[in-house]
Amino acid sequence: MKIYNTLTKKKEEFVPIEEGKVRMYVCGPTVYNLIHIGNARPMIVFDTVRRYMEHKGYEVNYVSNFTDVDDKIIKKAIEEGVDSQTISQRYIAECKKDMESLNVRPATTHPLATEEICGMEEMIRTLIDKGHAYVAADGTVYYRTRSFAEYGKLSHKNLDDLEGGKRSLLVSGEDQKEDPLDFVLWKPKKEGEPYWKSPWCDGRPGWHIECSVMSKKYLGEEIDIHAGGEDLIFPHHENEIAQSEAANGKPFARYWMHNAFLNIDNRKMSKSAGNFFTVRDILQQYDPMVLRFFMLSAHYRSPLNFSADLMEAARNGLGRIRTAAANLDFLLKNARQQERTQEEEALWEKAKEYAAKFDEAMDDDFNTADALAAVFELVKFINTNAREDSTAGFVKALREELLSLTDICGLIVETKEELLDSDVEALIAERQAARKAKNFARADEIRNELLQKGILLEDTREGVKWKRA
Ligand code: AMP
Ligand code: ZN
Repeated sequence: MKIYNTLTKKKEEFVPIEEGKVRMYVCGPTVYNLIHIGNARPMIVFDTVRRYMEHKGYEVNYVSNFTDVDDKIIKKAIEEGVDSQTISQRYIAECKKDMESLNVRPATTHPLATEEICGMEEMIRTLIDKGHAYVAADGTVYYRTRSFAEYGKLSHKNLDDLEGGKRSLLVSGEDQKEDPLDFVLWKPKKEGEPYWKSPWCDGRPGWHIECSVMSKKYLGEEIDIHAGGEDLIFPHHENEIAQSEAANGKPFARYWMHNAFLNIDNRKMSKSAGNFFTVRDILQQYDPMVLRFFMLSAHYRSPLNFSADLMEAARNGLGRIRTAAANLDFLLKNARQQERTQEEEALWEKAKEYAAKFDEAMDDDFNTADALAAVFELVKFINTNAREDSTAGFVKALREELLSLTDICGLIVETKEELLDSDVEALIAERQAARKAKNFARADEIRNELLQKGILLEDTREGVKWKRA
């Protein structure tokens, strides 16, 4: 299995630190809002990497954090007149709901930054003791970037190109730094902000130290894979390497994986630019599996442009797979209860080649676009070769192959029992009642339940409208 490593800019054969095991850390979202579909890209992509690794027989320890202390969370809390924890807990719960809809499996551990402050203090103390960090007059602790000789090795940047000059420090009011390249490990609290006591000042950690500490605690000092969106390469991941390697005296992560961005109208989708759709917005219109299929239809290192046309293509593609699965189910009900015939045995040998093709594509840096192409070849083969007179042995084998490949992609394609119109109406009425009683959790649950069964709801001024996906 080959992985493109941002650190070496090459595709490299994957060799785990410990045989049969993978230790993987994926930077998670800052929780101050519903996640947008850009945030969903790394979630879906790296969940698929995890599923494929498991399919290959690895035991994967998958850690993904929630950043639950941050300026944006504090700002939102002030706007709403509540504390930061109320905001972060609310959006962690919402994020987990979106993950479930998208069939993204929960991580082995989802650590929260605010629960790991002790470990952060300890690592900061080590960095100060080793001369890699210093305390400024107001209690801010900075990382001494030039003390780490390999700084810039991940982003392939040269320190001297990064140097902005001391003048800019005076302008930005950061003149207590020894060097403009130095970054914050710990900062003093401001009025009304959450804070923790520390030897340096009452305050809170910088963002980068969180991931170094959580990765070490749950996976160890050396890990196999560290992943996230490409915007995290610099400075976040570069700074994580500087912190972890200086503190632990060991290489940090062997393989660094980064997904390219999801764009809208060929422009980067971001919360700050305001051009984004939340996952929740999109799930009002589409089956969650269509969104998952769309994300996997491109290689994770290629930019992907979100458009109605591509979503329509994803819907059609998924539909073709679902129809093939439904046909196999139908054929299986009436098939001869018999092992494969000799003729079918030869066909089955051919059918197995699509699974091998799928693996070949995934082994090449998780090329999900080519892997899905192999699934479509299998679908075509099924449509031609699974017939009313096929044996149960043959139909079952084809069905298992199709479902095993789609399952690695995290795509649920099995046909669900259709809900009758009257059942849908009853659930909608129950949802309206729940909303009236301000039981929004139940209302959301009903919406999700209907969505899973392919029923889309639309809240309009005239009431709730629904249609089948
Ligand atoms: P954030 O909450 O901004 O820290 O983002 C959480 C994760 O989503 C990080 O891995 C980001 O790199 C990733 N991300 C944010 N926006 C996008 C986007 N438009 N396309 C792909 N990944 C993104
Ligand atoms: Zn991180």
